[in-house]
Amino acid sequence: MFPMNQYTLWRRLSFRLTLWYSLIFTLCAAILLLIFYMRVAYITGERMDDELEEEMGEFADIMRTSGLQAVIDEIRVEEHLEAPGAIFMRLLSLRGSVLTSTDTAPWGGQIPIDHQKILQKIREADTFYETIDLVRHPYAMRAIYQALNPYVVMQIGASLEESDAYLDIFRQLLLLILAPVVLISAVVGGFMANQALADVDAVARTAEEIANGNTHRRVKIVRQFVEIERLASSFNTMVDQLHTLIKQMREMTDNIAHDLRSPLTRIRGFAEMTLIGHSTPADFQEMAVNTVEECDNLIHMINTMLDIAEAESGIGTNRVEPVELGPLIDDACALFNGLASHKGIHLQMEVPDSAVVLSDKGKLQRMITNLLENAIKYTPMKGRVSVSVQLAAQATFIQVKDTGIGIAAEEQTKIFQRFYRCDASRSEAGMGLGLSLVKAFSESLGGSLLVSSIPDRGSTFTICMPAGIPT
Ligand code: ADP
Repeated sequence: MFPMNQYTLWRRLSFRLTLWYSLIFTLCAAILLLIFYMRVAYITGERMDDELEEEMGEFADIMRTSGLQAVIDEIRVEEHLEAPGAIFMRLLSLRGSVLTSTDTAPWGGQIPIDHQKILQKIREADTFYETIDLVRHPYAMRAIYQALNPYVVMQIGASLEESDAYLDIFRQLLLLILAPVVLISAVVGGFMANQALADVDAVARTAEEIANGNTHRRVKIVRQFVEIERLASSFNTMVDQLHTLIKQMREMTDNIAHDLRSPLTRIRGFAEMTLIGHSTPADFQEMAVNTVEECDNLIHMINTMLDIAEAESGIGTNRVEPVELGPLIDDACALFNGLASHKGIHLQMEVPDSAVVLSDKGKLQRMITNLLENAIKYTPMKGRVSVSVQLAAQATFIQVKDTGIGIAAEEQTKIFQRFYRCDASRSEAGMGLGLSLVKAFSESLGGSLLVSSIPDRGSTFTICMPAGIPT
């Protein structure tokens, strides 16, 4: 369980996802609305400019057809027709004086003229527009300037009050739209984040239950999101593997306990019998011999376990060199010849002259003798045992084959575990470490160990060694 101070809202993934989702969604919506607003503002401005241009066009026509006085008369007429402050008209001479102007009072009494600027702009283009900020009037003025003849410039202005008010309402409307968008995005984001994380929560809850001892619990796989499904199935696989490992460790510790108890009990039994009986010095000597023998067995077992652990962890070093398999296998067979002939077992070897592998000679020797020892041990009288070598392009195969008791299919995967011994072979002496050692050594040399076996017909163990140098 998390301590409460760590479990704050900010540390919750669902909260952060919701926040991110709403932020991004709101930002996108705001950008879209802003673009919309700017477009509307632009169109409004353009419409006003068009109206001003139309008005200016009428005055330009009058100038062309009837002259300056007619323009001045028309300005007077329009001033009376229009509401005060609706439209502003002014005639300016190019020298800078005002020829005529409508009343400036509704515009705050003063409308600034930048004569230099007007002159320059008129030289560049016949018509130009300007937005003028008025000092004593709350709204700005949009104005058009046009030269009616080479000496007179006309200025027509209209207040931006109406379009500003219109854009103001529009702005408020957009903000009103944005508020529910923020709310909806938070709700939708929260819903989606919770949906996605509900399954992660289920995995976490199952992990907690397993940690509390309910080791048989597994995550129910709901096929909603591929990632979560993968997480759940990987979690279940991991728990299964842990389960198997724990089971194997339990079996192994049981076996170790059993294998240690037997020789220790025997040592104690000898010592006790020698002590309480009327023992002669010869009895004491025998006890000492037995104790040394049992201790040797125990030391051998512990050393083998250490060798396996070293090979499995990869910390051991391999003395790689070209190894001629013929003489190596010959020596191994010579070692077991006596035992084989004692059991009437026909022991044969089939190794090509050119059989050379790049490997660790000492380890190879121990692997082959272990497999040979097993083959002879688990083959009844008058059976057959053979060691052969096959050379291929990528690998060399060393096979130890027997016509012995065989191994049941369900036990073939277990025989490589430390201390595992099949029921059928328990009458024979052994520690259950030989195959673990062969497997660990072959893998540490970059190879593998395979088994194929049929009960009562025999077994074949194959060491596969890579042709190249092991890494
Ligand atoms: P052990 O010391 O018992 O021989 P190993 O690790 O060498 O230990 O072998 C593990 C078990 O695999 C043996 O106890 C035996 O049951 C089985 N086994 C190994 N080799 C053979 C074989 N050639 N034929 C039948 N069973 C075998």
